[in-house]
Amino acid sequence: MQREVIQMDDDDAVDAEEADAEPTVDELLAALWGPGVKKKAYVLGVMQSNRHDTIKKEFISRLAGEDRGKKLLESMVKGSVINWIPDVSRVTNVMKPIPPSKKAQWAAMIPAVPIALLGGFALGIQKLLAEGWSRSPFTSHRDWIKELMRLEFDVTFSNHWSEAELRKTYLAFHLVPDGTVRACVNGLERNKFSIGSFASGSDISMAGLLPTGSTMGGVEPYSRLFGQKFLKTGSKYSSRMKYKNAWTMTTLHELGHTVDNKRGVMDAHGENSEFGGWTDFHNSQLADEMKESLTVPPPTPNCIQTPRQIQKWNHSIEWCINDFASPDGNGDNTIREEAEDITRTYNLTPHDSQDLKSALASHPMVKMAKKNFKLGAWNRSDDTMREMAAPFGGRYFHRSYTQDWVSFEVESRKDAVSNYQYRAPGEWFAELYAHYYMGTLDGHPLKGWFEREIDQNFDPETMLAPPAPPNAEDVAAHANDNDN
Ligand SMILES: [Zn+2]
Repeated sequence: MQREVIQMDDDDAVDAEEADAEPTVDELLAALWGPGVKKKAYVLGVMQSNRHDTIKKEFISRLAGEDRGKKLLESMVKGSVINWIPDVSRVTNVMKPIPPSKKAQWAAMIPAVPIALLGGFALGIQKLLAEGWSRSPFTSHRDWIKELMRLEFDVTFSNHWSEAELRKTYLAFHLVPDGTVRACVNGLERNKFSIGSFASGSDISMAGLLPTGSTMGGVEPYSRLFGQKFLKTGSKYSSRMKYKNAWTMTTLHELGHTVDNKRGVMDAHGENSEFGGWTDFHNSQLADEMKESLTVPPPTPNCIQTPRQIQKWNHSIEWCINDFASPDGNGDNTIREEAEDITRTYNLTPHDSQDLKSALASHPMVKMAKKNFKLGAWNRSDDTMREMAAPFGGRYFHRSYTQDWVSFEVESRKDAVSNYQYRAPGEWFAELYAHYYMGTLDGHPLKGWFEREIDQNFDPETMLAPPAPPNAEDVAAHANDNDN
């Protein structure tokens, strides 16, 4: 922000320079908490002043970093800006009228500085009033929250954010340790006509939701219309989440993605059984990944005997899987074509051809690819997943995104907080993160780990590095069930 140029003669210049020395953030904070200060008006005054942006950012973020300051800011976010503007004429009468010219005003500030160091009051109110009220950049409470979020979290905004959206997002951000949002989030985008919210790197895009009192349980019936059953039947964590606010939960979920992105949580631990035992790969690798997990390959059909026939048979299986795995694939035709091709190549009987076709279609690798090539296969019940995963040592494969497939250990679903947690490794952590801060994670085997490694006051040294893995005690707690 540009500082005002003050025109004056040489004699006054020295005095003005002294008076112009910016109070430090410590002084501003001391003044704010001084006796008789209207706190909300003071905070507003600092934000409206022409102080350097770094001073304002430090003032607001330090305020947010202490309990009473955090409470003050939250009450300002919930309140209305009009209530904080003091009766200027009354205050200025008490303080003596603000000098009319800038020159005279700066001179008047000189005695105010030592007073400010004692009580903070003069510095607190008079200077801020002089600087601020005359040129308020905030025409609404909405603009003010936006500016507060820019200063406190160092974020930028895209598209239109309503006051309610900003307010609920701000309060959700205050549920996580101070400093987290500043370190992990850069941009906030609002696309209310898109279907799903998402986070990409350090940017969050909120979509498809309104900042109402809707709960997760209230949203669920609508999501089911799109075949998306987010909450998991039988999960105590999901049962608790039904009654929690959908906007707040979604904000925390997206924030969880940015934390994962910054700290590499799932890159470091996603393969551990404790975290779901994930593999995550491009769709072209599906056949290889499945082959690696297949414990006992099913016997080949009787008509497949010679090494060349066996080679052709294996090739056909792979061909079918690749077709289902490709984004626009529809492997049903490929199963038929491959069976016909083997029949022609080896001049097999129609009966053998039929045998081949059904053996191909019921091969566990082909069956898994066929059942799960459409997005959303994280919705299935544990029993169905367990059955499908049995030939793969308990590993279930599905398409997570258009070009990506994943596999995970079905056994880990006993601690699932939701169905959606099992879409992809990133969702696994984002859901755990949201549940922890929504207060629905009690009894979860990783709650202790989360408290120790993630839910800590922000310290860039440790909090930007990958967290340590769960310890033996966390693992022992894994005996907890998910029935109540
Ligand atoms: Zn997500």
